[in-house]
Amino acid sequence: MENTESKFFHGIAASPGIGVGKVFLLEKEELIIVKKSLHKKDLVKEVARFRKALAATRKELQQDKLEMLKVLGKTHARLADVYLLILEDPILTKDIEKQMSKEQVNAEFLIQIAIEKLHRTFDNLTDDYFRERINDIVEVSHKILRHLLGKEKTQQEEITEESIVVAHNLLPSDTINLKTNLVKGFAIDVGGKTSHTALLAQSLEIPAVVGLKDITSRVKTGDFLIIDGNQGTVILDPDPQALKNYKREKEIQIRETQDLIKLRDLPAQTVDGKRIELSANIETAEDVKNVLYYGAEGIGLFRTEYLFMNRESLPSEEEQAEHYSRVAKKMMPYPTLFRTLDIGGDKLKPFIHSYAEESNPFLGLRALRFCLKYPDIFRTQLRALLKASTEGNIRIMFPMVSGLSEFLQGKEILENVKNELIRERVPLSPRIEIGAMIEVPSAAITADLLAKEADFLSIGTNDLIQYTLAVDRINENVASMYDPLHLSILRLIKMICDAAHSHGKWVGMCGEMASDTHFTKLLLGLDLDEFSVVPAFIPKLKSIIRSTSLPESRRIAEEILSLKDSNKALERLKAS
Ligand code: PEP
Ligand code: MG
Repeated sequence: MENTESKFFHGIAASPGIGVGKVFLLEKEELIIVKKSLHKKDLVKEVARFRKALAATRKELQQDKLEMLKVLGKTHARLADVYLLILEDPILTKDIEKQMSKEQVNAEFLIQIAIEKLHRTFDNLTDDYFRERINDIVEVSHKILRHLLGKEKTQQEEITEESIVVAHNLLPSDTINLKTNLVKGFAIDVGGKTSHTALLAQSLEIPAVVGLKDITSRVKTGDFLIIDGNQGTVILDPDPQALKNYKREKEIQIRETQDLIKLRDLPAQTVDGKRIELSANIETAEDVKNVLYYGAEGIGLFRTEYLFMNRESLPSEEEQAEHYSRVAKKMMPYPTLFRTLDIGGDKLKPFIHSYAEESNPFLGLRALRFCLKYPDIFRTQLRALLKASTEGNIRIMFPMVSGLSEFLQGKEILENVKNELIRERVPLSPRIEIGAMIEVPSAAITADLLAKEADFLSIGTNDLIQYTLAVDRINENVASMYDPLHLSILRLIKMICDAAHSHGKWVGMCGEMASDTHFTKLLLGLDLDEFSVVPAFIPKLKSIIRSTSLPESRRIAEEILSLKDSNKALERLKAS
């Protein structure tokens, strides 16, 4: 019998859907660099050749930026700005020219030496921010080298037929030259459910499996693959029956999506009439069109930190106010829930000179803690949000609240900012709901205290699960332990919902758990009032909500809470 075991790879389901096709292996391109000694008389020519390569790289990056803006939106396009800035760095410009006249060798060789030196200096750093910046410099150097070596086509451009892209990692810049209409799936060595690649694939609506560890060394270009972005599996050389099954499932899913989209204008309401607020998670103003297309009735999580990333200076109050107003206005009359800055200090290091390295940033100065420590940054954001409040129906939520006093401190600053604006005669909306995000176990356990002071609670399961179970949410080695059905998580969700309701407040969920349709009935039964999910998941969720009654969902929740084994709980939910 044929050994089918070796053909299955299990990773992490990162973007839903099924992709079938031939592998296109995106290999790290090896450029062959040779050292060439130059005569003095050839130096001027070599400098001119180098400058020409820099100019060509600049032009390429500018084109990339336009393309990224078109395809991926502003957030991802900012990476091109970072690259353009790197291109002006003396390491890649003046220093190379200086070395050229000193050493009298070719430009390619000197760039290579500069990269090796950078690696030697920074390789041992554990800090993600610096490691990412080094990768960016290497990426830009690579582009200059390609121009010097006269390599015109990138590997991505060689995709001419429908393919499954297999790569070690995938950055927004890697997708620029990718004909995304030909890409039927991604299979990636690294990453977790909330990694950059996962979010990217979701926004491109391409099925993806990540965290496959060594898939790049197990397949080659031309091999036949099935990507199951729902289950997180990849099958190499599927047998005819498996292929037939998957093709059928894919057709069913396409038909289902077409049917589901017809529900767009119907309310998300249970059979017995409980109205659920079904909203969307987004990162930029450009995402709003998708939100409306899929029939969301609001934004339940706007991750404002994206406006602060990959840039050289902090966004001003005006820039922020303009951005927030644009989103709130487009969403009218539906609410837009802005989450204040959720960022670790490391990401803002260029602007904060006193910032000290943290050995464990996930347990460090993040989100609300960071904002309380740097109130000027916080106040600027709050002023901008309040200014946007007359343009739409806005809500504000603080992330990573770990207890009552932190939440009250945040509210106090907000109140001060409000009074300041009133004194400046800036028009404000008279009623803005202020919520606490519940994603730290200490906040979940004291949710009753928070519910008394907040207008609403929103459960961030991505972090709540990682902190409760002590499982890093983006580490593929412990991914199997990241279990939303762990009884501790279910009990916490129940506690949070009960706490909110006992104070007459509504409670939502904006973590990925809300997007998983296996959990919809259970979450309804635990009494969740609002679900906030990736826009494309809205129609499916709506159809489940519209076919479920509260008594049925409560029965399911009760039964699941009585089970001690999360595998059994999942089986039960799959059967419901
Ligand atoms: C969460 O933690 O569940 C959440 C929605 O926030 P983020 O994924 O941005 O940390
Ligand atoms: Mg979170």
